[in-house]
Amino acid sequence: MDDILKQLPQLAKDKHNSHKKFLAKLKKKPPKNLDYVMQELHEEEFEKTDCLKCANCCKTTGPLFTNADIERIAKHFKLKPQKFIDQYLKVDEDNDHILKEVPCIFLGADNYCSIYDVRPKACREYPHTDRKKFYQINNLTLKNTSICPAAYNIVETMMKAIKV
Ligand code: SF4
Ligand code: SF4
Repeated sequence: MDDILKQLPQLAKDKHNSHKKFLAKLKKKPPKNLDYVMQELHEEEFEKTDCLKCANCCKTTGPLFTNADIERIAKHFKLKPQKFIDQYLKVDEDNDHILKEVPCIFLGADNYCSIYDVRPKACREYPHTDRKKFYQINNLTLKNTSICPAAYNIVETMMKAIKV
């Protein structure tokens, strides 16, 4: 996995234009069964990919914390939401709450998430490859192909499996 993670930014850069073109075409004319196909591709990929050997998302990019996330996680730590914010979060240029720093402070040395059961919604859904209307997040997907080997593989497989 370490080798793949080292190569991934360059691989994603090399494929950026073809991925971008493909995703743009997909957005223009999405197949009727796209949600179903994405679910299948996502499940197939994550049967092969062991996130515990990777954790690159937790190490290199943090999630957004919604108000519901903050309340839930603060409760888990028996903290007031504002105290949790002061301790762990900052506000980004879009006015969203994000981690003060990466790697995520809740990531263990064994790659386990110490707040797994109450983790942010964005962490639960990452890399969003099984979401409905996948073409609505094309820019995010392009970014994720350089961070997440599963997202990269899924886009590569989509290009073979879906005629656009
Ligand atoms: S979601 Fe992607 S980047 Fe995150 S741990 Fe799994 S394979 Fe790695
Ligand atoms: S909260 Fe957990 S899943 Fe989310 S980035 Fe941190 S360690 Fe990873």
